[in-house]
Amino acid sequence: MFRWIHCQRILLPTFLVGALLFLGGCNKGFTLKIEDQDIFAFGAQDSCNFITATVLSNTLRVSWKSDTPVNLVITPSVPEEFDTEILSAADKWNSTLGKNLIHITRDNSFSAPPASDRVNAIYWSTEWDSDQASQQARTAIRWDVSKLLDTDIRVNAKNFIYYKNGDTNKAGKIHLESLLVHELGHALGLSHIADLASVMQTHLKSETSRNQPGAVDSDSLKCEY
Ligand SMILES: [Zn+2]
Repeated sequence: MFRWIHCQRILLPTFLVGALLFLGGCNKGFTLKIEDQDIFAFGAQDSCNFITATVLSNTLRVSWKSDTPVNLVITPSVPEEFDTEILSAADKWNSTLGKNLIHITRDNSFSAPPASDRVNAIYWSTEWDSDQASQQARTAIRWDVSKLLDTDIRVNAKNFIYYKNGDTNKAGKIHLESLLVHELGHALGLSHIADLASVMQTHLKSETSRNQPGAVDSDSLKCEY
């Protein structure tokens, strides 16, 4: 089964006037930051399993930088019976790093579709492209230079059925908390890796719980957060 990340870069004007300049970086490479954005790269960074962007021929990690916690809303499309699983998935990342990285609330008044609106939202999609029916979910991230600005998560509710912690009838179903842990990893900027100890593996089998970020995931996050 495939989980897939759609990475879309949007172009926004970068304002330099009156900006606060300081040097920052992590492990490898230094960047000139303006209002929390990496503007000029003076050396490539380790990817640390993050999505990367190329800036002035240097590889930079794409992340929220210091702009955390990342706030997401559960849209009314998502059945409320799954709220506990979604909140628990966020807590897996927060407890892994000992920081409040992700904050999720339900907003039943939010009805806008996925868009570059700087509202990070989780959707339950009963419509799904037939040629991508093997995707369990899709997380879109949008960034400028290397700073994440927006993310939206869509769960494929057309082609898959999900189960919750404690459910006894799992046959053929996908563990929703595990799926959300993976997708929230993308929302933080993480890429797929093949490491069997990582929740960022591409495939999640049915009837399988993989809801605990591994040491490799924790080490990745520490490069940025
Ligand atoms: Zn994925």
